[in-house]
Amino acid sequence: MDRRIKGNIVTIIESMAKQSPPHHFEFSDPFWVLITTILSHRTKDSVTDKAARKLYERYHDCKGLSKAKYDDVLGIIDKVGFKREKAKRVIDAAEIICTKYSGKVPESIDELMSIRGIGRKTANVILSDALGIPAIAVDTHVQRICRRIGIAKNDNPFDTEKALMGIVPKNMWIGLNPMMVEFGKNICRPVGPKCHICSVREFCRYGQKRLNETAKK
Ligand code: SF4
Repeated sequence: MDRRIKGNIVTIIESMAKQSPPHHFEFSDPFWVLITTILSHRTKDSVTDKAARKLYERYHDCKGLSKAKYDDVLGIIDKVGFKREKAKRVIDAAEIICTKYSGKVPESIDELMSIRGIGRKTANVILSDALGIPAIAVDTHVQRICRRIGIAKNDNPFDTEKALMGIVPKNMWIGLNPMMVEFGKNICRPVGPKCHICSVREFCRYGQKRLNETAKK
């Protein structure tokens, strides 16, 4: 990784934060953050949040959701992608949290990842956003931004997570993912990134290349 990036990582993060609107969290309760993240895969935030909110209003907690009927849950999360699999997963997750963890969301990544439907990214979201335990979740936005800037050396999110953990001070881990998600939606977009107004363009390999090419035209 470029020494300039390592040496300026705090500036880079603070600059991104200035161009990122606040991230909306539908829930702060760890159990409902967990359910929301299971529902969120390949689904728009607004659809996910609405479905999770309806589940919450109907079942209230893990005990209620663990006893829910599959068809009822399926009807409630109707607009969510992969709804059949997810309906089963949220009921199963609720049952595991209730029976194995006495209603408390576990605080270790291994325990979280032992629940079906929870991968490494989701587990890190729950740890940092819901439980306040420093962790860095690498989703498609974080991966894309890190690849473009030159923090990520490949497309493997686990390698990117390790790279970030190696250079970002631990007191900046919590909140890093939601901030970068917003930066990725607003500035470093998948298609048509706004490099010309981006506050980190001086550190970004991809952005510099793009801007140079535009200048030559
Ligand atoms: S300069 Fe362009 S590619 Fe680089 S981080 Fe900014 S928007 Fe993304």
